Amino acid sequence: MKLGIYGGTFDPIHLGHLLVAQAAIEELGLTRLFFIPAARSPFKAGNQPAPDAVRLQLLRLALAGKTNCEIDGQEIRRGGISYAVETLRDYAQRFSNTELFYLIGADNAAKLNEWREPAELARLAEFVVVPRPGEGPARFPAPFRGRMLKGFPLGVSSSEIRARVKAGLTIDNLVPPAVAETIRGAKIYI
Ligand code: ATP
Repeated sequence: MKLGIYGGTFDPIHLGHLLVAQAAIEELGLTRLFFIPAARSPFKAGNQPAPDAVRLQLLRLALAGKTNCEIDGQEIRRGGISYAVETLRDYAQRFSNTELFYLIGADNAAKLNEWREPAELARLAEFVVVPRPGEGPARFPAPFRGRMLKGFPLGVSSSEIRARVKAGLTIDNLVPPAVAETIRGAKIYI
């Protein structure tokens, strides 16, 4: 079995994230892909994300009907700062005889050594880098193993979505329609 793990703040989920998922499922032949929203990212400690329940609701709307994608709320349940190594340990314990792939955007590859317990992380999973416009080819710092996917590079970010909502600009075509409607209706990110 090949499982994909996709961690992020997803504040909010957008089409760039969904294209990462599609590329990983197709190019790696994943059996299942788990989206794992962080309670708090160690690299975004100064930013207060939208409430957990809101980010989860938007993820559910975006992933509705995608049978090979699931949401795993374990980092939100643990609370505090979320570390990928804890999540990967949990997966390694629960799924034996399984290849674990951890997905990251190209902006994150060079910084992998700054993640908590890099040696353990590198042992537990293969890292998969998905291209992101503005980022060059990925270089994996030792001891990480990884590969780069072809992907569907799309220059959308959650920070851009939040900034556009604040500025009163449309987010149509950058997030799934149900996500755009909910953000507008519930006045999130204003
Ligand atoms: P922000 O703009 O708030 O920093 P973000 O758009 O980068 O957020 P995250 O939830 O932090 O979104 O991203 C989760 C993971 O997805 C990270 O590894 C990030 O590099 C990757 N990612 C996000 N957007 C894209 C994209 N458009 N293309 C490829 N990878 C992406």
